[in-house]
Amino acid sequence: MGHLNTFPLSYKVRGLRIAIIGGGEEALNKVRLVTKTTAMVVIIARHVEADFSPFDVLVHERPFAEADLDGVALVFVAEEGADAELAKATARARNIPLNVVDVPAECDFYTPSIVDRAPLTVAISSEGDAPVLARLVRARIEAMLPPGFGKIARLAGGLRQRVESLIHTGPARRRYYEALVTSPQVEAAVALSPIAGRYEAEVLLDQHQSQSNSAGVVWLIGAGPGSEDLLTLRAQRLLQQADVIVHDQLVPDLVVQMGRRDAEQISVGKAKGHHSFSQAQINTLIVRLASEGKKVARLKSGDPMIFGRAGEEISALRKAGIQYQIVPGVSAAMAAAADTATPVTLRKVSSGFIMATAHGAEDSELAHWAALAQSGLTLALYMGKSIASEVAARLVAHGARPSTPVGIVVNAGRPQMTTYSGNLSSLIEWDATLADGPAIIFVGEAVAAGDWANAAQIAAQNFKVA
Ligand code: SAH
Repeated sequence: MGHLNTFPLSYKVRGLRIAIIGGGEEALNKVRLVTKTTAMVVIIARHVEADFSPFDVLVHERPFAEADLDGVALVFVAEEGADAELAKATARARNIPLNVVDVPAECDFYTPSIVDRAPLTVAISSEGDAPVLARLVRARIEAMLPPGFGKIARLAGGLRQRVESLIHTGPARRRYYEALVTSPQVEAAVALSPIAGRYEAEVLLDQHQSQSNSAGVVWLIGAGPGSEDLLTLRAQRLLQQADVIVHDQLVPDLVVQMGRRDAEQISVGKAKGHHSFSQAQINTLIVRLASEGKKVARLKSGDPMIFGRAGEEISALRKAGIQYQIVPGVSAAMAAAADTATPVTLRKVSSGFIMATAHGAEDSELAHWAALAQSGLTLALYMGKSIASEVAARLVAHGARPSTPVGIVVNAGRPQMTTYSGNLSSLIEWDATLADGPAIIFVGEAVAAGDWANAAQIAAQNFKVA
């Protein structure tokens, strides 16, 4: 192998300027090349002859001035004469890399022929000796790399962190990237849109993740509040791949049915008349299924990390050395906020938002109620439906103002959604029953900014004047 007199490298020009001295065909050739970059391209020439209008360049039709090289990363001189000489001398004095078109001896650098599949670039250089040969080689490489190749490279770049978090060994990651860049599905999808490409890349990632561990995998998936269109795309995709779907009672059938038809379905819910599983039994179940090599979708209502006992399941999976992934979902409180147009944080009214349990916190847990009552933030109380009046009484007993607005959303995010509104004192007095279904209780001043006009009133003092 011969030795190179030049060193090929990729030079950063983003945010910098590239100056071209000259206004003819040769300048235009350089413009074609450098406008592939995000640099600002400036042309300085006394006489502008070529048509630069198709390019995003700044054209100064005037003599060259030394100040033209301020903030300039690269200089091309594409004419002869006094301006050219001054530009060369200025560039050299300031150590700005210089290219003098067709005068190799005066060049600090040469421009290679470029195959542009941004961010993938192939540069072909003959060190200025045989540009024609370089262009020929370029044409061959162009033919080898389909135009969508750059998009795949961008896609791979955007997936780096996810791949690292899901595939833990170097060789397995390399296998994934190889599959990604050669997959016809990914290529076709990426040509349609970046999102379509990402989707196919994720499908491939799921496959690799489950292949790289023959002991199966558990996906803890948030199913959202109960409408199938509030499921994430990722949740839907993994449901389609699961061998077994293990779901809670609160996850509606509609969502469970989005899984593969031949997938086994196990309800671990606490429905009346059914055998219900203890948390320990659920932990054992998902570990066993995954150990049998199955892909397990553990479907939980809302978001799995919010009152979903995900902590216990995750620690059982970790202990058993089983791969897992968490897929977030729309939590009931967020669906309730959306249904009632309630901004749970609101400038000058509520600087924060608390998701808390209304249940399980006993009278003795004074700190829990004191913190909630005195926070001044918007509260979303889960699991509090059957004890709504007591909850209101506790908050007032711990210092919340009786006039604090309250909104209750039953069946948030579902067609049969029902809302109630009032304030803490009216909720204390209230003794009718709420509609069937799970409920979120909102408490706080920001609740009054929501759209509760059609709500059944908790009491006469409905805060919303419709
Ligand atoms: N992980 C779930 C919460 C499970 S705990 C989530 O993030 O939403 C169960 C409690 O969630 C219920 O008692 C109720 O307070 C609330 N909940 C679940 N689904 C709901 C819905 N569709 N509408 C209102 N509240 C709901």
